[in-house]
Amino acid sequence: MDHQADPRIHGIEAAVLRRQGGPLRIEALELEGPRDDEVLVRLVGSGICHTDIDFRDSWSAADGPLVLGHEGAGVVEQVGADAQGVKPGDHVVLSFQSCGQCHPCLTGRPARCDRFMEANFGFARLDGSNALRHSGVRGHFFGQSSFASHTLATSRNMVKVDKELPLALLAPLGCGLQTGAGTVLNSLAVRPGQSIAIFGAGAVGLAAVMAAAVAGAEFIIGVDLNPLRLELARELGATHVINNSRENIATRIRRITGRGVDFVLEITGSPRMLLLAVQVLNPHGTVALIAGGNGPGALPGGRKSINIIQGDAVPQRFIPQLIDLYRAGQFPFDRLVRFYDFKEINQAIADAKQGYAIKPVLRISEP
Ligand SMILES: [Zn+2]
Ligand SMILES: [Zn+2]
Repeated sequence: MDHQADPRIHGIEAAVLRRQGGPLRIEALELEGPRDDEVLVRLVGSGICHTDIDFRDSWSAADGPLVLGHEGAGVVEQVGADAQGVKPGDHVVLSFQSCGQCHPCLTGRPARCDRFMEANFGFARLDGSNALRHSGVRGHFFGQSSFASHTLATSRNMVKVDKELPLALLAPLGCGLQTGAGTVLNSLAVRPGQSIAIFGAGAVGLAAVMAAAVAGAEFIIGVDLNPLRLELARELGATHVINNSRENIATRIRRITGRGVDFVLEITGSPRMLLLAVQVLNPHGTVALIAGGNGPGALPGGRKSINIIQGDAVPQRFIPQLIDLYRAGQFPFDRLVRFYDFKEINQAIADAKQGYAIKPVLRISEP
């Protein structure tokens, strides 16, 4: 069949991963869709998140070529017959995917979707199909694969936003910033006067710092090895910062709080930091684990640990809330962002990995 004649097949460009560690190469591909429940989105920007980098670095030949990217923002170009809530020309931010049919989804907790792994890491739609099959490549990462000129999304992983806003800047709200802020405001529901230590001052940690300030936490303690990031943490609302290459974290935190913190947000994934997190909690404290993996199991006293997925956010509610806070000057996440052209994607990833860029955002097209 002549694809050029089929209006359901779109010639797109995407950054394809074909070998472990990259580089990603921008290639011409064919994208099939949208299906009735889908929307075709022309991407304007995409954030780069550590999960993209982890996938690039752990890729094996058995995975086949993939398109990564899961912090997309763009303009709606085509709307499937049953897709609700958007029309061509609307600006949208993309987020994680969920099934919409399981008990957690039906009770408003899509981040706890029973099919979360499949929907976000399956590199296919939930029915197993793949819109990039004509090119022998797999997409649908987090229901989007946003390192591309165009992608498909559904109403479940799409949030309509005001056209007045700088669209590319909003891209990282869909994963990293939502996760950091959502952990503080949703998962932990930090209240005025409480205390929180945040281990790791990257994009997720700094979003958590800003959210803790919004929540009115009394002590917001940022911990990192990088003095520039600690300085930024202080400017964004940390009341104290600790450089763990130079200071004893447990001693400092006890001195600051008197009895340990109410919450620790552990983002580094380091077993040593996890042990330390438990040590600095007060007897009723909670440690929130972002990096995944195994929690510490039973904790002494009334201490608890919880695993965080996407900050327990409902994107359609939480992303507009973050945008309102940004407009009010209370969530200045633009200070974390560094822009790169789409073709500089490998440089942007390298800069994120080295810690030069806190939150790289690719500029893919003009809004
Ligand atoms: Zn992410
Ligand atoms: Zn579900």
